[in-house]
Amino acid sequence: MASQCVRDEEHERRKQISVRGIAQVENVANIKKTFNRHLHYTLVKDRNVSTTRDYYFALAHSVKDHLTSRWIRTQQYWYENDPKRIYYLSLEFYMGRSLCNTMGNLGIQSACDEAMYQLGLDIEELQEMEEDAGLGNGGLGRLAACFLDSMATLGLAAYGYGIRYEYGIFAQRIRNGEQIEEPDDWLRYGCPWEKARPEYMVPVNFYGRVEDNPKGGRRWVDTQKVLALPYDNPIPGYKNNVVNNLRLWSAKSPVEFNLRFFNDGDYIQAVLDRNLAENISRVLYPNDNFFEGKELRLKQEYFMVAATLNDIIRRFKNSNFGSREATRTNMDLLPTKVAIQLNDTHPSLAIPELMRILIDVEGLTWDKAWELTVKSCAYTNHTILPEALERWTCVMLQNILPRHLEIIYHINHLFLQEVHKKFPGDMDRMRRMSMVEEEGEKRINMAFLSIVGSHAVNGVAAIHSEILKTDLFKDFYEMFPERFQNKTNGITPRRWLLLCNPSLSDVIAEKIGETWTVHLDQLVQLKKWDKDPAFHRNIQTVKQENKMRVAAFLETEYGVKINPGSIFDIQVKRIHEYKRQLLNALHIITMYNRIKRNPTGKFVPRTVMIGGKAAPGYHQAKLIIKLICAIANVVNNDPVVGDKLKVIYLENYRVTLAEKIIPAADLSQQISTAGTEASGTGNMKFMLNGALTIGTMDGANVEMAEEMGMKNIFIFGMLWDDVEKLKRDGYDANKYYNANPELKLCVDQIANGFFSPQNPKEFSHIADILLKWDRFFTLADFDAYIKSQDKVNETYLNQELWTRMAIHNIASSGKFSSDRTIAEYAREIWGVEPSWEKLPAPHEPSGTDANTNNGK
Ligand SMILES: *Cc1c(COP(=O)(O)O)cnc(C)c1O
Repeated sequence: MASQCVRDEEHERRKQISVRGIAQVENVANIKKTFNRHLHYTLVKDRNVSTTRDYYFALAHSVKDHLTSRWIRTQQYWYENDPKRIYYLSLEFYMGRSLCNTMGNLGIQSACDEAMYQLGLDIEELQEMEEDAGLGNGGLGRLAACFLDSMATLGLAAYGYGIRYEYGIFAQRIRNGEQIEEPDDWLRYGCPWEKARPEYMVPVNFYGRVEDNPKGGRRWVDTQKVLALPYDNPIPGYKNNVVNNLRLWSAKSPVEFNLRFFNDGDYIQAVLDRNLAENISRVLYPNDNFFEGKELRLKQEYFMVAATLNDIIRRFKNSNFGSREATRTNMDLLPTKVAIQLNDTHPSLAIPELMRILIDVEGLTWDKAWELTVKSCAYTNHTILPEALERWTCVMLQNILPRHLEIIYHINHLFLQEVHKKFPGDMDRMRRMSMVEEEGEKRINMAFLSIVGSHAVNGVAAIHSEILKTDLFKDFYEMFPERFQNKTNGITPRRWLLLCNPSLSDVIAEKIGETWTVHLDQLVQLKKWDKDPAFHRNIQTVKQENKMRVAAFLETEYGVKINPGSIFDIQVKRIHEYKRQLLNALHIITMYNRIKRNPTGKFVPRTVMIGGKAAPGYHQAKLIIKLICAIANVVNNDPVVGDKLKVIYLENYRVTLAEKIIPAADLSQQISTAGTEASGTGNMKFMLNGALTIGTMDGANVEMAEEMGMKNIFIFGMLWDDVEKLKRDGYDANKYYNANPELKLCVDQIANGFFSPQNPKEFSHIADILLKWDRFFTLADFDAYIKSQDKVNETYLNQELWTRMAIHNIASSGKFSSDRTIAEYAREIWGVEPSWEKLPAPHEPSGTDANTNNGK
C-alpha cells in the first residue's frame, strides 16, 4: 500500500538522522517494555482487543514515565535552590497535543518511532488519537502555552496557573454553510498527562459580608466555600531535563455544601446541588477579545486567583530561607522571591486578593501590603478594543466579593490622592483615571486597577505598546512613565517549526546545524544561500510536499480537489470584524468577477483557505462565516472557474489544525485595521514556515517587515495615523464604494443575493455594515489591498524571486521566538536571569559538576 510505503520511508529517514548507539537500542527496548506493561496493567487490554486509542494511551503513559523522574527532580531542585519563582496566571492555556511535543523535548522521538515500528504500529496514527487540550480561544491562550515551553527551556523556576475546564473551546462543525457548536468533551477518555493532587486542595470563598475584626481591621465572614482541586501537568523544557509544572484548578463541592437542605431532610437535593459549585470549572467562555460580564465568569476568575495565591504564599512560606526568619520579615522578601504575571486583566483580582491576604490574614499594614503587592505583580495588556476591556459592575462584586470591592475602593481612593498631588486641580484627569466608573451602572475598570497595582505594564508589540502610552492609557503613562514597557510576542520554534515541519527543519539543519531550535536568531545564517539553486530547490520541494499533504487531507476530509500548483492563500484566526475576513472575501469575489469577465485571460491560480471559530453569540461573525461558505459554493461549482480558483472553509481551526496547515502556506493574510491587532502570533508562525505575508502595518507585522525588509513582504493600506485621522475627519464608505467599480460590484452582489439566490436578503446586513457602520474601515483599504494582491500574483510567477523572499522570511524570523520574549520578561520585569544550563539527568549525580556539564 502507498501509505505503508511512505511510512517506511519516513521511518528510514528518522532512523538515519537520529543519534544511535547502545543508548538508542536500550531506549527502544525500554519503551517497548514499558508500552506493553501499560497496555496490560494501565489499560487492561491485550493486543487482540486493543484499539488505536489504547495504543495511544499506552505510548503516552510510557512517554510520561520517561518524564516523571525529571519532573520530580526539577521540583525538588527548585525547592532546594530556592530561586525566584515566576507565576504565569492565565484564564487560558491553549496547549494542543502533548505527545509529540513531549517526545521531541525529551529527545526520545526517534526511539519511540522505532519502538512503535517494531511493534507494527503507525505512530502517526496513534498521535491522531490525542485530543487537543483546547483550554483557550486564540492568540492569548496560545501565547501562554508558548511561554510555558520557553520558560522551561530557559531554565526558569516557572509555574503556569489556570483552570482545568471540563469543556474546552467548542468544536466547530460547518453544516449547510453555517457554524454549529459542539461541546468539547476532551476528558471523556481521560488525560494521560495530568496528575490530580487532592492532598493540595484549597478552599475558595464567595459571597458573605465584611465586618470589623475585634482585633482591629476587617474580616470577610459567612462565606460559601468551594474547594479547588489541583491537577498538575508536566511542562518539559527542550532537552535540558527541566520539567516545570502547569497547575490547573478544578472546582469541587465541599462535603458540607448546601448542608441546609440536608438538615431539611432533602438529602438527594443536597447531593444534586453539589453540581452548582462544581459548575465553576465546567466550561471555557468562548469569547475572544470580548467582555461578557457574566457572574459565572467572575467566579472563574476569582476561583483561579484565590486558589493560586494560596499556593504561592504557602510555597513562599515553605521555602528554605523562609523558615529561618519570623513571618513578618519574611513577607518583606515576597517580591524578591515571587513574580506574578497577569495575562490580561482576567486574573487581575490577584491584586486585591494579595492585599486581603497580606492585611487580613498576615496582619501587615496597608502601606506595607501595597508596596509588596505592586512590587510582585506585573500586567500584560492584550487589546485596546473597548468591547474587550473588563469592567465588572460594583453590584456583582459587592455580592460575590464584598471584601475585595472594599479594598478596590480604598486602592482607588489612595491612588486618586496621588493623582491630585501630581496634578493638583486637574479634576477632569481625576475623573478619567478613577478605576470606579460612575457613568451609568457603577463599574470597576480592571485595566486601571491592574496598572495601579503593578510595577510593570506591557503591550505585546512595539506599535501596541506605543498606542497604550499615547492613547488608551495616556493618563496612566503620564502618572507612571517608568512602568510602561514593550514585550513583543513570540512563538516556540519547537512546536511551530521542529514539530510541525520536520522536512523544513531538516533542510535548515543541513545548512546550519541544529542549535537554531534554542537560538532562533541563528536562522539569519540562511541568507548566505538565498541565491543558491540547490537550496532553493530544497525549500521549494519541502513546500510542495507540504502542500500535497494538505491537498490530500482536504480531499479526503471535504471531497474537494485542489490544484497543488495554485497559491495556497491562508487566513486562519478567530473570526472577528477587526481581523477583516470580509476584506479577504471582497478579494475572492473580485478574483471571481475577473475570471468571469475574461475566462481565457491570464490568471495565477489560487486556493484561498479561511478558517476560524466565531464566538457563539457574535452574530455578525457567524454571518461572515456563512458568507464565505456561500461564496465558496458559487466559486467552486462554476465550471468557468475550473481549477483557477477554489475557496475552502477550514472547519474547526485549532492548534492541531494550525500545525497541519501552516507549513503548506504560500501566502499568509494578516490584514487587520492598523491599530487593532495588538500583536498577532499567527503571522509569526507563517513567516517561520516560509510563507510570504500580505498585511497591514499592524501589531507584530510592523516588526516582521522591519526584520525582513519591506521588499520581502506585501504591506498595504492605512497606517495607524491614517486610521486615526480618518476617524477624526469622519469615515464615508460610500466615497470608496462609488469610486471603484470592482468594489461596487462586489458589495452589490453581497447585498442583492448573488451568493444567496434562495434568500436574496441573507447578506444585506453585511453590505449595510460595510457601507454604513464599519468600525474597521474595510472599504478604505480595498483598493490598496487588491493592488497588493496583484503584486503577489506577479511575484509568484517569478518562482526564483518568491523563493528568495521566502528564505528571507525564514532567516529573519529569529526575533519572534518566545525564548527571546521570555528572556526579556525575565530580565526587565521579573528580575531573573535565564539559564541555558541543563539540570542533571535523573541517573546523574545532582552535584554542581553534573550541573555545568552541558551548560553554555
Ligand atoms: C496562533 C494561533 C492563534 C492566533 O492567531 P492570530 O492570527 O494571531 O490571531 C489562534 N488560534 C490558534 C489555534 C493558533 O495556533
